[in-house]
Amino acid sequence: MSTREYPLGISFEFFPPNTDAGREKLLLARDALAERRPRFFSVTYGAGGSTQARTHNTVRQVRECGITTAPHLSCIGSEKAQMRELLEGYRADGIDSLVALRGDLPSGMGGVGELRYANELVEFIRAETGDHFEIAVAAYPEAHPQAPSFEHDLQNFARKMQAGADLAISQYFFSAEAYFHFVERARALGVEAPIVPGIMPITNYTKLARFSDACGADIPRWIRKQLEAYGDDSASIQAFGEEVVSNLCRRLLDGGAPGLHFYTLNQSAPTLRILDNLDC
Ligand code: FAD
Repeated sequence: MSTREYPLGISFEFFPPNTDAGREKLLLARDALAERRPRFFSVTYGAGGSTQARTHNTVRQVRECGITTAPHLSCIGSEKAQMRELLEGYRADGIDSLVALRGDLPSGMGGVGELRYANELVEFIRAETGDHFEIAVAAYPEAHPQAPSFEHDLQNFARKMQAGADLAISQYFFSAEAYFHFVERARALGVEAPIVPGIMPITNYTKLARFSDACGADIPRWIRKQLEAYGDDSASIQAFGEEVVSNLCRRLLDGGAPGLHFYTLNQSAPTLRILDNLDC
């Protein structure tokens, strides 16, 4: 039972599993995490070649426990007619929260489509469906990897919020200062909506390093060095990772973060250990 209260509470992100075993594992994780009474779950789209139909099916399964579940959707490479149909399908199925993204085109794939950036997608969703959906968008405290500068990215972030997003969820990071700096700068540009930090539990150094390089998340040198030194000692990696990420969460919440969004990778244990450390 939570002893801490935050305006947006906690939320957990899953990805659509590929196999029956993966589905079972996801539903076990969902059940364990549901006990922490999250505000919502979300289900990613696109990574690893998954389709929007698989995201939708996973949303249906995850929400059977009664907790609001938001599909992620991305607009790059799509036409407006496709997006309209997708939104209608979600609305008809009782879905009222979305995570709206530009996404990335798989390399070598065709044109960008009619909606080029997330701000255009948010505008389109509002024009098509009014206030039906609560819309979350992505934020990058350490700048999006393709952005020519932090300022440029920040302006685009503000544009996306002003297009009608209700909240933002950040890319993960390990520097609380980067988050607080981003929030302060966004507020100065008139962004009032909550910006929820995205939290990545540390469980495997090799995967984390690869993923962080791709998405532009910085692993500070002191963390990298310590994780490298543990080599194959996964127990030590997990113990150290748990301490680092729990301390980060504490600093974020103490500093006014409105909630925490966990990238669970369909595992409950690492996230639950962090929540236990936080009394959440
Ligand atoms: P945008 O906000 O459109 O920004 C993309 C880039 O374009 C940035 O560099 C920005 O500065 C620039 N830009 C934005 N608007 C404009 C404009 N109007 N004019 C010029 N430049 C502009 N990926 C997946 O494949 N599936 C997922 O489910 C998924 N979920 C995610 C969830 C979260 C919380 C986060 C943080 C990321 C997620 N991603 C996911 C990754 C995301 O798709 C990529 O980071 C993608 O490259 C950018 O998407 P975006 O919505 O942030 O794009």
